[in-house]
Parts: sequence; structure tokens; C-alpha cells
Amino acid sequence: MLSSSGLGVEYVRAEGNTVFHLDANGNEIPVTDYCGGYASLIFGHNNAEITAHAKSVLDSGIPVYAQFSRHPVANRLAAKLNEIVARETGATEPYFAHFASTGAEAIETGVKHAEFDRVLKVAALMGEIEAHVEEAREAARDGRLTVAESAYRKAGTEAPSGGGAGAGAGVGADADADADADAVPPQDAFEQLAGAVARHNGEVAARPPVLLALEGSFHGKLMGSVQLTHNSGFRSAFGGLGAQALFVPHDQPDVLTKTVDGVREQARVLDVVVTDGVADVVERDFPAFCAFLVEPIQGEGGIRALDRDAAAHIQRVTADADCPLLIDEIQTGLGRTGAFLASSHVGLRGDYYVLSKSLGGGIAKSSVVLVHQSRYRGEFELVHSSTFAKDGFSTAIALKVLELLEADDGAAYRQVVERGEMLRAALDRVRADFPEVVKDTRGKGLLQGLEFHDQSKSGSPTISGAAQGGILGYVAAGYLLGAHRIRVLPTASAPNTLRFAPSLHLTEEETAALETALRDWCALLRDEDEKRLTGN
Ligand code: PMP
Repeated sequence: MLSSSGLGVEYVRAEGNTVFHLDANGNEIPVTDYCGGYASLIFGHNNAEITAHAKSVLDSGIPVYAQFSRHPVANRLAAKLNEIVARETGATEPYFAHFASTGAEAIETGVKHAEFDRVLKVAALMGEIEAHVEEAREAARDGRLTVAESAYRKAGTEAPSGGGAGAGAGVGADADADADADAVPPQDAFEQLAGAVARHNGEVAARPPVLLALEGSFHGKLMGSVQLTHNSGFRSAFGGLGAQALFVPHDQPDVLTKTVDGVREQARVLDVVVTDGVADVVERDFPAFCAFLVEPIQGEGGIRALDRDAAAHIQRVTADADCPLLIDEIQTGLGRTGAFLASSHVGLRGDYYVLSKSLGGGIAKSSVVLVHQSRYRGEFELVHSSTFAKDGFSTAIALKVLELLEADDGAAYRQVVERGEMLRAALDRVRADFPEVVKDTRGKGLLQGLEFHDQSKSGSPTISGAAQGGILGYVAAGYLLGAHRIRVLPTASAPNTLRFAPSLHLTEEETAALETALRDWCALLRDEDEKRLTGN
């Protein structure tokens, strides 16, 4: 596909928004890069300050790998992340930082932590119920307990009857008690109930955790995270490898409400309560939810933003259900949309935040999951680790990235807003002039998308064939590279949408060149110009 779409180019150097390849004579050919390392280069390729910092860090001979020791740089990074998140979200309690290397790894670390927390909560709940059962059992043994008739029905069993020789009433506290049941020893009567309660609770507790994600989501491609990525082309072959997610649409709030309510109803456990010597059964909420994963703006899903209402609904529903909300800011975080967290634009607050991409400053692999204090389990530090996480190099670079973002009272965020508006205005002008081929332009800050109308009926066989095969975006990319020296790619799950994620150094000239290139491509699409596309 690289070769056939003209994207099989080797880049030999990169700087700012430009990548260079060589022509046949060995001369450097500049290409303006709108992919920006799949949105991981908010400060551009080989940013001079970051590179200089990296060199000085390496020259100082810091230990890059000193696992299981003190990590003051990582601690400072965590403190700085907290300071920024608190400012943007108003959070008053801290988040604990757990570092990783890639986006998918941090997602899996976050989900794994959420499951650890859930399992510990399940164990605590089961322990509490077991203690109640034990208390009741003792009372039954001493002949101080009767079992309410209704308790058996609630536990999904029937009252035992006949055969017993014990003194006192085993069951029959209810007025409609079965006379035969009087003969059942209280212990047996109670064990019948306890057995049914244990069976029911065991069945509920053995179910896999419930994971929720939005339709169109992208959270990674590893064994666990791919189950949370909606695109079935990436996910479906690997369903046997991990817990499945329930995918809900972001624009139909009632579907989310119904899904969550349905899970809660199905996942009640039973507890035994004793009042005045009568044992009864009550239902209790069970922690069925592992996490709900949300991208504030879906990147790979085609640059689709959650609006304020959808965000508020998600916040409400997850809070009511005590379902941890994990906000995936891997692509949108670190200033990409003009704020540190894109979720802060719509007032969405996470129990977990996941950051990566630009955190590595374009030269390191780094990611982090932030876990809110109210959910954090310190024991997790002992059960989860990675050789390469929290290393001295990537944490030092990440700290520098935060310093650059926060410098001059947030000048970088303001620059993203300003350059983002410039970029968006150019895309909007193209859309206005080519309404027959451009379906939509959308995004925030320096994460913008341009969606084409379906071209599968184009009179150009190359265009219609590419559209039918779902690769029109790649054909567009090849054309824009070959004819205009512009590097842009479609999003992973919405191949009709081109993503523009340049660095904050985007210039007016670069934007003007992009507009010219897009106009040329749109005219070609509109004119169904096979000849100009293929030369035939
Ligand atoms: N989540 C989101 C929102 C992403 O955009 C990506 C990468 N495109 C990932 C997770 C996965 O990150 P990585 O490719 O580093 O595993």
C-alpha cells in the first residue's frame, strides 16, 4: 500500500513541521508534515530546546535505568502534572502517577488498576456478606433464628420442608408459612438459604468485568486495549484474548443510561440481614463496572468531539453507577487542543487520565496514567511494573515538555488556539468552495479533520475503487505528497477523514500551501479527473 499510494518515501531528516527526503541526486526535498508523528509532536520534530535538554541529560550521565530506587525527577513530573490538572479541572485531591512507555500500555495499566480496585472492592463486599451469613449461622445453631419465608424466594430457592426432628421453628416467621416446614431444624433451614445466597453471589462475582467505551473509540491495539477499540477490523480477530467492551453511542444518552441500568440490575448480590431473630435477604449493588473509557475528541475515530451535554451525561451516569471514568487524552492532551486536557473544554472530570504522545517531546517513548486518590490502591505499585517505565531519560524529557507548555503563563496554549484557528479557517474555506466533495471540517486547536463525501460512485475508476476499498484517504495522501510535498494521513478508523495535527510552530505560509494543495485535490475529486490522478 505504501508503494501503490506513493507513500513509500524514506525521510532522512526532520525539523519543526518539515520532514526531508532525498531526490535522485541526493538533494533534500522538504515536505510539510501535518501528521506530526500521529499527533505526538506538539513542539515539532527535533525541537531545539528539547534536543538540547536531552543532550545535557545524557551528558550528565544520569542513571537512565535504576529500577526500585528513588526517582526524584519522576516525582517532580507527577507533582507538575497534578498542579496542571488541578488548575484545569479544579480537582482538590491529587492523582497518583503510574508511568509506562506507550499509549496502549498506559491504557492497559489504567484498566488493570481499575480492575484491581474493583476486585478488592468485590472481595471486601463478599467478606462483609460472609460475616453476616456467619453471624446468622451462629444464631441458627443456637436456635435463636428463624428464616423469613420471603427470603427463600428472594434467594431463588424454596423453603425446605418436612423431615426434621429439631425443636423450634426452622422457617415460618411469615404468616403464610408452610406448616411442614416447622419440622425443619433451624440450622438446615438456614443452610438452605445460605447455600442459595452463596450460589447466586458466586455466579455474579465470576462474571467478567464490565468495560464501557464509545462507538468510534480508539484506545490501542494490544491484547486488552484492542478490545476497547471499536473498529472491528482491528478488534474482532482477538476477541478471545480479553474482556469485551460494551460500546455505546455518544449522541444517544438514553442508550448509555439503559446499558448502565441493565448492567446494574443484572449484577445485584444478596446479603443476609437479621432483624429481631428473623433472617431475610436484601439485594446489594455489586461493583460490576471496571471502567468507562472516553476520548474527549476521538482522534482515530475521525476527529469527533464530545459536546458539553454528552460529557455531562457521561459524568452523571458513571458517578451514579460508581463506574470509574477513564479519560484517554493520549492524542488530545498536552496542549493539542489549546488546553492541557481537551476534556477540560467540556467540563468532563476523570477518575483516571491517560497521557502519552507529546509527553515524550518527540524523542522519547513515554506515557502515564493518573489515578485519582479516591480510587488509588498503593498495592498496585507492587503488582504492576515494567522494566522501561519511569526511566530517567523519558521522565526528564517529559518534565521539559511540561515546562515548555507552561512557560510565559501558558503562551504555548494560546499559540495552539491561534494557529488552530488559522488552520481551521483554511479548511473551512476549502469546504465552502467544494461542498460537493468536502462533507465536514471539525476539530479543536491543532487537531483538525476534513471529511470527504463518499466517492464510491465517482466516474474515475481509481477514485471510486479506492473509495470502495476504504483507502481513498491514503490515495489523497499519496497525491498531496507527490504533487504538493504535503504529508497528511487519514485517521485509523475513519478513512474518509484526513487528520491535521501539526506542531504549534505552524506558519501562515505552510497553511497557505496546504490550502492550495487541498483545493487542487478537491477539484480533482469534483472533476472525477482520472487522467490527472493517474497520468492515463
Ligand atoms: N488512545 C488514543 C486516543 C490514541 O490516539 C492512541 C494512538 N493513536 C492510542 C490510545 C494508542 O497509543 P499507542 O499507539 O502509543 O499504543
